[in-house]
Amino acid sequence: MNTKDFASLPLSDDCLANLASLDYLEMTPIQAASLPAALEGRDLIAQAKTGSGKTAAFGLGVLHALNPRWFAVQGLVMCPTRELADQVAKELRRLARYMDNIKVLTLCGGVPMGPQIGSLEHGAHIVVGTPGRIRDHLGKGTLDLSTVKILVLDEADRMVDMGFYDDIENIARACPKRRQTLLFSATYPDSIKRLAAPLLIRPVEIRVESLH
Ligand code: ADP
Ligand code: MG
Repeated sequence: MNTKDFASLPLSDDCLANLASLDYLEMTPIQAASLPAALEGRDLIAQAKTGSGKTAAFGLGVLHALNPRWFAVQGLVMCPTRELADQVAKELRRLARYMDNIKVLTLCGGVPMGPQIGSLEHGAHIVVGTPGRIRDHLGKGTLDLSTVKILVLDEADRMVDMGFYDDIENIARACPKRRQTLLFSATYPDSIKRLAAPLLIRPVEIRVESLH
């Protein structure tokens, strides 16, 4: 079987049919390199440029790790900006269309906390947000991360450039030690290596140069 074929992965027929309906006919290089390890539950550091399909690379990993019948925050995705968090949430909802009622909640700054607290009380399977607002909810005790099974750092280099290093560390520490962690970054400077060292366990390291 072609290693670019989504059907080479341990995904359900419903998931494969949904990918086909999205016109995802074969995996991009970063997806082909990262999904086998991500779906096995391994930690991952993946370096790839913008537009390479990183969202589905971690998104399918997040959905795979979920128990849909357990209504608790099992997936946490951190992004640098509200715009990126909204895009990731939208993509996760598309990827999850074949599943019943997967709730994806975004938590970003620039809007009042109140409605977000209300949404958190209703519950969610996946939270996508910016480190600043996630930190604020943790500080207020309105977000419980003790049920997280999979933590994703998307565009980690940008988050560190924006000064979120300490927030990311503290948020990761609020998640269970036994979890899966996926780190995606366009570049891999020393600051990201330092950030990753205590947060990931024996990560698979992937680097994809070209887009196609
Ligand atoms: P990145 O986060 O690496 O910048 P995205 O995850 O935003 O990239 O994906 C870029 C675009 O490629 C999106 O429009 C997405 O829907 C599309 N895409 C992702 N994976 C595939 C695939 N396997 N086949 C076709 N299109 C894809
Ligand atoms: Mg992206």
